[in-house]
Amino acid sequence: MKAVIKAAAVPGLELRTVADPVPAEGEVILKILSTSLCGTDSHIYQWDNWAQQRIHPPRILGHEMYGEIVAVAKGVTTVQVGDRVAAESHVTCGKCFQCRTGNAHVCKNYKIMGIDRDGSFAEYVALPEQVCWKTAPEIPSDLACLQESLGNSVHAVLTEDVTGHTILVTGCGPTGLFAIAVARTAGAATIFATDISEYRLELARRVGADLAFNPQKADPSVILDQTSGEGVDAALEMSGHPTSIHMCFKYVKNAGRVVLFGIPSANVALDVANEIIFKGIRVHGITGRRLFETWYRLGGLFRAGLDIRPILTHTLPLEEFDKGFDLIHSGQCGKVVMIP
Ligand code: ZN
Repeated sequence: MKAVIKAAAVPGLELRTVADPVPAEGEVILKILSTSLCGTDSHIYQWDNWAQQRIHPPRILGHEMYGEIVAVAKGVTTVQVGDRVAAESHVTCGKCFQCRTGNAHVCKNYKIMGIDRDGSFAEYVALPEQVCWKTAPEIPSDLACLQESLGNSVHAVLTEDVTGHTILVTGCGPTGLFAIAVARTAGAATIFATDISEYRLELARRVGADLAFNPQKADPSVILDQTSGEGVDAALEMSGHPTSIHMCFKYVKNAGRVVLFGIPSANVALDVANEIIFKGIRVHGITGRRLFETWYRLGGLFRAGLDIRPILTHTLPLEEFDKGFDLIHSGQCGKVVMIP
């Protein structure tokens, strides 16, 4: 089969013909109908410090996927050939303290598709039954692979109630855009969004931001002007940039909440007393999706009218993966989907 592979410990990826995957007991073979690029894949493509520590080539990348099950191995009971499924990318152990107490999203032993085992930038992938997520046929194939990424934003936005609340989203990359769309569907009152890319600010407006602006050009204190001087109920930090992190603490109201999802590239110094303690706020670190609560809510959001179509800006054949990573690097894109 064709696969996009990190063949050696150098920048870039290669399209190669490799052996078809063979399912182990309890696994299925998924024929990939769509798979999307993530920032994580971009780090591996560029072969930065994090990737060099984390990835052991050769490895087929890709952890956001949707497809049709074409084979099932011994022991599989909940899915069958012909089912259309997306995949939870974190394969959890089911045995650790976190897995046994409802917090499998922070399992200490989890393996990630496309990082710790071969992923979905290929015609076929072997997938443990436990991570298959049957997907309603009304969700189009090219959007269905985005559910894994969307799930991060569903988790971030719905950690607490947002209905009728004012929201700030800093960073309008795909997860920020998904967060805006989710908050809108969930009934947020007013959504502020910031980014330094006019392309992404325009996408933010399309998916439901009431006021999307570049904080380097417009004064963020407009947030106070429009919230009776209080600030927002919830600030969602989706960029990882220190300036945006501080903006979230500054513009969240006293007794509000800050959600940190964007990953900083270095340590960030906080004024803990003034940014957190004296404001009496709650700070939530968000990683992955709650298993599988987030997936159920995600399905429900689609039925409630969630529209993520504007966030899918580019669809490419698998062979054009280089173009996809160029797009991510440029920032002139939302989500990029590849079709094998
Ligand atoms: Zn575990």
